[in-house]
Amino acid sequence: MFHLIRQIFEGKTELDERLKYQMICAMIGSVHLIFMIVFFYFGFLFPAVYNVLIVLFYIGMQALIARNSRFTSVFVAVFLEIITHSVIVTLYFGWEGGFIYYMVPLIPMAFYSCFTLDYIRKKILMPVVSSLIVFTVFFSVLVTTDRIGCLSPTPVTESFLHGMFYFNSFMVLMFFLTTSVLFSIEIRYMQMHLENENVSLLRMANFDPLTRLLNRRSMNVVLKQVLDETEGIEGAEPFCILMADIDDFKQVNDTYGHSKGDEVLVEVAHVLQSNVREQDKVCRWGGEEMLILLRSDMEVARSVAQRICSDMASTSLNIGDDMINVTLTLGVSEYKDGESIRSLIEAADQRMYRGKRSGKNCVVWN
Ligand code: GH3
Ligand code: MG
Ligand code: MG
Repeated sequence: MFHLIRQIFEGKTELDERLKYQMICAMIGSVHLIFMIVFFYFGFLFPAVYNVLIVLFYIGMQALIARNSRFTSVFVAVFLEIITHSVIVTLYFGWEGGFIYYMVPLIPMAFYSCFTLDYIRKKILMPVVSSLIVFTVFFSVLVTTDRIGCLSPTPVTESFLHGMFYFNSFMVLMFFLTTSVLFSIEIRYMQMHLENENVSLLRMANFDPLTRLLNRRSMNVVLKQVLDETEGIEGAEPFCILMADIDDFKQVNDTYGHSKGDEVLVEVAHVLQSNVREQDKVCRWGGEEMLILLRSDMEVARSVAQRICSDMASTSLNIGDDMINVTLTLGVSEYKDGESIRSLIEAADQRMYRGKRSGKNCVVWN
């Protein structure tokens, strides 16, 4: 239970809409129950009986909430109940009891309900109309009580009004607090939800879903950044491109099937990734071609490419019940100042194709 409350406050779990409305109605119903007891105790029969009916109304409301999945009618019913009760009891006891102030939290509550209930389309109109009703009724009652005083046939003592004012002030503040807490929880949940959505959208936009390597689009962004950091800057860190292509991959697909071919791609991606450092980037350039960006000079890039090549050739990939051996052919090119990324990639590509022509499973760097 404590864990659930914590999850809700941290925005990790959504507060159940039904439970929320049941709790709010239970809270308001309890206040009316207290009114009923107090009014009976002090001999104010009319407001006491009126509150008996309201308590019954909130018991019925619990059943309505349990059966319904749309809570607009619940909001409207509670809104009208609070307005009516505030007006009648204020006219009965006079302004000094502070009963009218129960109407005030209806303004944030109206905004909150319309903000959170997905199926309410008029998200601004409804709370604005509700607020206008609250303003109009509030000042009409103020003017009326100013003129007529109170309607109670039984005398209302100063100490009774004083006590009621304390209680009502406390409860009104509690309602404000409840609305604020609900608002914060809801906003926190939505924030968390959006953050998670953003992360998965970013992942979808930047990574290849099969191999989880960077995709071509995001690699182009990385290459542009590296070019900006290097072009025309003396002493800038050198960088190289490795173009790696799986040898005879079509044959793998033809022999073992396309889905096994997919698994081979995942394993190859894993071998490539595990042979480079964190700052180097591996991308699925297209089909069974991977492009690697190495932040190093040709000498280091060549040895990394050779390591990848021999690692791949000596690794038997365990795909289901089959052990599959694949090899790679790699072309390497180093960035020269003033060169474009396109020509750098073309150079690596051409070298890779030269490697294919000269028997595959090799590295070509010049
Ligand atoms: P080479 O040694 O000359 O590169 O021969 P190859 O068979 O690897 O090259 P080719 O271009 O003839 O075929 C590439 C194959 O890669 C064909 C295509 O079906 C396969 N391929 C491309 N993308 C995927 C993929 O996502 N999954 C699978 N299973 N196969 C793919
Ligand atoms: Mg190939
Ligand atoms: Mg290819």
